[in-house]
Amino acid sequence: MSGPVLYLRILCAFVFALFAQAAMALNINGVEYVGVNEFARMAGMKYKTVVRGKKMRVFSKWQSIAFEVNSRASKINGVYVNLGHPVAVKNGLLYVSKRDVYKNIYPVVFPAILKNARKPTHIVIDAGHGGKDDGAKNSKYNIKEKSINLDVALKLGAILRKMGYKVSYTRTKDVYVDLEMRPIIANRRNADLFISIHSNSTGTKSVSGVETYALTPVWLPSSSSSRLRAGDGVKYPGNNTDNWSQYLSYSIQKSLLERTGADDRGARRARFAVLRTTNMPACLVEIGFLSNNAECLKLATPSYRLKIANAIANGIVRYESAVKNAASRSRR
Ligand SMILES: [Zn+2]
Repeated sequence: MSGPVLYLRILCAFVFALFAQAAMALNINGVEYVGVNEFARMAGMKYKTVVRGKKMRVFSKWQSIAFEVNSRASKINGVYVNLGHPVAVKNGLLYVSKRDVYKNIYPVVFPAILKNARKPTHIVIDAGHGGKDDGAKNSKYNIKEKSINLDVALKLGAILRKMGYKVSYTRTKDVYVDLEMRPIIANRRNADLFISIHSNSTGTKSVSGVETYALTPVWLPSSSSSRLRAGDGVKYPGNNTDNWSQYLSYSIQKSLLERTGADDRGARRARFAVLRTTNMPACLVEIGFLSNNAECLKLATPSYRLKIANAIANGIVRYESAVKNAASRSRR
């Protein structure tokens, strides 16, 4: 092959690759998207169109991710993982935002490659509200969130101690603890994990189920927000552990679903005050809705609260084994 022909061929190949790249990428209102086929290739997984232009699945022997057009609810290994941006479509192919791939999906699917694995030796458990702050209330049954949270926190602590973890609390009684103080307490104790326990409430009484929150990464909208806002560019100390917090949140949510049968409201993102300033992986668990009478009665039952506590502990055990895998991989 003569020099000019070879040069032309290389140029053609380069131009083709450039077009192929552009065809697989999409930019919607400044948000960069990648085709689900390209994402599967990057992840070393397969993909399948379930309903053209509507539903796609990315999978391997061990993992499965389902995407639905216009939806922020991806389903990873049976758990809803809330995305920052809705899944888009072009020419029948679904697209997912790159930031979601890196911040929300990869940490859940590939915990073994995450950096800075930290063995959870000391766990701080934070029972939400307390003292003058009742939190949510169900007035029909006279149930206060602060009491439900504290009992689950103490049960969880007892289980974790039996398993050999060091456990401490932000409160062990019905006392008021300032919101900003809670992560500071965990930081001062140099804890390895921070778990905040809350019960939910909403105006729609039919809503029930469990949610687990990790701090929203920089430049992604929180789950409650429909789009990026100016404040979303602020980086908090808690963002240093984004990836492990996301895996922790997914793992706890998965265990809660497996063990309680509660509705799956998703592994979600929020910039809650208790998650912003923690120096260690952290999440906030919403164990059920007090505004839903049926779920409130369950939460009022000690055996159900024990079930919840066991499920959270199980999520922490799975988290620890992922940490161990990642640590042994980085030593290899
Ligand atoms: Zn609360």
